[in-house]
Amino acid sequence: MTRRQQVQIMSNDPYWWEARDRGTPYASDGGGQSYDVAVIGSGYTGLSAAHKLAANGVSVLVIEAEELGFGASTRNGGMVSGTLKLSHKELCEAYGRDTANALFQEAQDSVLFLEQFISENDISCDYQRTGMYFAAYAPKHYDALAREADELAALGVETRMVPQTEQRQKLASDIYFGGRTTVLAGGLHPAKYHAGLVAACRRAGVVFRTRCRVNAIKREGTSYVLATDGGNFRADQVVIATNAYTDPGMPWFRRRVIPIGSYIIATEAMDPAMLRRLIPSAEMIQDTKRNLFYYRLSPDGTRMIFGGRTSFRPIDASESASRLHAAMSKVFPSMASARITNSWTGNVAFTFNKVPHVGTHDGIHFALGCCGQGVALMSHFGDQIGHRILGQGGDTAFAHTRFTTKPFYSGHPWFLPVVGEFYRLLDWLERP
Ligand SMILES: Cc1cc2nc3c(=O)[nH]c(=O)nc-3n(C[C@H](O)[C@H](O)[C@H](O)COP(=O)(O)OP(=O)(O)OC[C@H]3O[C@@H](n4cnc5c(N)ncnc54)[C@H](O)[C@@H]3O)c2cc1C
Repeated sequence: MTRRQQVQIMSNDPYWWEARDRGTPYASDGGGQSYDVAVIGSGYTGLSAAHKLAANGVSVLVIEAEELGFGASTRNGGMVSGTLKLSHKELCEAYGRDTANALFQEAQDSVLFLEQFISENDISCDYQRTGMYFAAYAPKHYDALAREADELAALGVETRMVPQTEQRQKLASDIYFGGRTTVLAGGLHPAKYHAGLVAACRRAGVVFRTRCRVNAIKREGTSYVLATDGGNFRADQVVIATNAYTDPGMPWFRRRVIPIGSYIIATEAMDPAMLRRLIPSAEMIQDTKRNLFYYRLSPDGTRMIFGGRTSFRPIDASESASRLHAAMSKVFPSMASARITNSWTGNVAFTFNKVPHVGTHDGIHFALGCCGQGVALMSHFGDQIGHRILGQGGDTAFAHTRFTTKPFYSGHPWFLPVVGEFYRLLDWLERP
């Protein structure tokens, strides 16, 4: 049964939050008003930058408007990959082959960075290098994946094409036209990874201020004054790590980021053997639609986690649950009777050229616009910002493409419903 039914949910908090210790580790610290570096935002980007700096003797304050990890970093699908939103061909067309290769290579390397960081800091976040399977939604998507595989092989990126006839080795569904596995990819528990980052930062001496929104940043002499809900803070350097949650207090940055809601559901606990038969390889799965779906098993193998951009207008958690449940049932008809416990949403940051950006504007460091692929990449960017501030390199390929905006855009993406419908039409037209 694939018809959409009204789905009852138990919680509109992310499933991942159930594993969080909401106590002391997440509390706000005291601390002074002056620091070497102030980091705005406590997701992977901010924490990774803060950790690099504090571990090298820099005094760092992380300021978070809500609770630590309130943004995408504890809401995401936990899929670790070094892929970018644009294909290698699209990057070549936009920036030339050398830049495309450099962007691709660095994105791949971000996975190795993440793996090393998790291991060095002993973070228990259920990370497994499972691979990621891109399921072709149309025959021409399969052909495009195959062509790209040849280009990626030349860059040393290991992929494996899976024809439609062999697809059931990957997933128990017949709606796709084959696909491609990227080998250097995996899955983790996003909130456990975030908690591990918080703990590593605390060990390194980072000071946290939570529920403390930065409302304005002003330059005074050689330092910056941050006007916040909790008073003024002074810092010699500032890092903006607010991604899709960038607010009007940072207008230049907000004008360059397009926040798009992404929705996820988690099923009730189910028979792990039955779920494993649906995804025998336990890979992370993404389809190739423009309005894509992404799904995986929970790290303990007991739940299906299923996400996608089911709406470009804000919708409530039970509406998104119903839509995602219908989509999941279409992929796996046997899941039509599965109950949903959690349904939640978070904002993904797109940019106008669909490439993430790292850099410095008016002396302020930033990494923004993961375009939905930020677990490894944004962690790596945070680390690179740390390197840059320490004067130890940090010259990423993502600092060399122009971070543009559009006339009259101020951070409110009024055009999304129209674009979303257009993408839906294109997806429909490509499907035989
Ligand atoms: C539903 C969903 C699913 C996703 N799935 C995947 C996936 O499977 N794999 C993958 O690689 N990526 C995924 N992503 C993307 C990934 O989660 C993000 O790229 C990454 O978490 C971004 O981290 P960040 O630190 O830059 O931003 P965030 O984690 O969003 O943190 C930004 C923080 O800044 C704070 N903030 C904003 N303004 C202010 C202010 N004025 N003062 C103080 N604090 C402020 C916010 O409260 C927020 O906590 C997903 C994203 C979403 C939303």
